[in-house]
Amino acid sequence: MPTDSHDPITDAVLDLIRAQDPESAELIALERDRQEHTIELIASENHVSPAVMYAMGSCLTNKYAEGYPGRRYYGGCEFHDQVETLAQERAKQIFGCSFANVQPHSGAQANAAAFMALLEPGDTFASLVLSDGGHLSHGMKINFSGIFYKPVHYPLIRDSSSSDFETIDYDAVREVCLEHKPKMLLCGYSAYPRVIDFAKFRAIADECGAYLLADIAHIAGLVAAGTHPSPFPHAHVVTTTTHKTLRGPRGGLIMCNDEEISKKVNRSLFPGLQGGPLMHIIAAKAVAFGEALKPEFAEYSTKVVANAQALATALTGHGFRITSGGTDNHLMLVDLSARDADLTGADAEGWLEAAGIITNKNGIPDDPRPPRVTSGLRLGSPATTSRGFGEAEMVQIAQWIDTVLASKGDEATIAKVRNDVKSLCAKFPMPGAATVSC
Ligand SMILES: *Cc1c(COP(=O)(O)O)cnc(C)c1O
Repeated sequence: MPTDSHDPITDAVLDLIRAQDPESAELIALERDRQEHTIELIASENHVSPAVMYAMGSCLTNKYAEGYPGRRYYGGCEFHDQVETLAQERAKQIFGCSFANVQPHSGAQANAAAFMALLEPGDTFASLVLSDGGHLSHGMKINFSGIFYKPVHYPLIRDSSSSDFETIDYDAVREVCLEHKPKMLLCGYSAYPRVIDFAKFRAIADECGAYLLADIAHIAGLVAAGTHPSPFPHAHVVTTTTHKTLRGPRGGLIMCNDEEISKKVNRSLFPGLQGGPLMHIIAAKAVAFGEALKPEFAEYSTKVVANAQALATALTGHGFRITSGGTDNHLMLVDLSARDADLTGADAEGWLEAAGIITNKNGIPDDPRPPRVTSGLRLGSPATTSRGFGEAEMVQIAQWIDTVLASKGDEATIAKVRNDVKSLCAKFPMPGAATVSC
């Protein structure tokens, strides 16, 4: 049983589980150690605070609370009403909007509810070409969004001589919308490193009579802190996850400023799509939203962007190409083929994981390789920044990435980097862990 946790609460919780179920406890402990000893560069992941973590493990999981505050289908919801209202109020304060639904179990569920509120089955909507950085809930063929609705897509700019190469092609957005007259225009992405101009999107939506849905799943924490422009007042509906840059529990959130639309959203989510809300997760959302309202979160968010830019600059220095030439937010897409035509995202992900650097392979625009192979890597700074890594560590990480990939998976090289990664990780315990005492 690994015992080198820096967090006495986690140790106590593990002891408690171990007494009843050693098998499960062992697996949780192994995962805790994996997280402690590796560098997490997956752009959609983060390390939550102990307060968020333990709110998720609270007794609120025991309760059914179908319905909304003050209008439940079960007795005993007095405190659940207050918890959910607290989460709603904090979400509204963070994002500056009038209505918030904190019940979506995930970002995809939030999108499903937004689609259901704004569209009828068979209606057309416009979104980014999925392989250019969109999300599967934005019209993938075998996702609800592609099965029940009709997606049309706009691309990124392909002209490599343009200073806007690989950024959103707003002229194409307008053309696609004028041609297909979608009922909804969708912006917000999973692998897009640049600022989204929500006002421009709204102008196009207005011109063709569409609703604007902004899915800020990735950038919500940056929006909360003012490090990325807000989708309000431009978007009719805003959806997000709560577990990426926003650093809360895994979950979703839907917001808007229009009372009629908010009623449709609420009805679409429950009873339309979900049953009982995950009240322990909603409590953890309230805790995370409270954290996001503090000045420290704005500092965190500023560091996230500075760290991503430091990593992108350092990788560029090692001869890697970053799509669109860099990043304005927390993530970047590395085009491996520019450095080595034979290097695939799948190989890079595997070798780096063996060295303790966790990334995900990701298609680049016009990637000739299939999604399970790819020619790119997506890297992000939210998790490492939560751990306290700064720009110097980002430069060091870029050096290790260069070493591992240049070695083409050489075992001795990987073992050496693995050791160095472990030593660095030992200096940066998980968030809050060092300050927790029992
Ligand atoms: C991550 C993501 C989602 C979905 O989140 P889940 O919680 O995994 O369902 C939706 N939209 C975008 C743009 C995302 O990046």
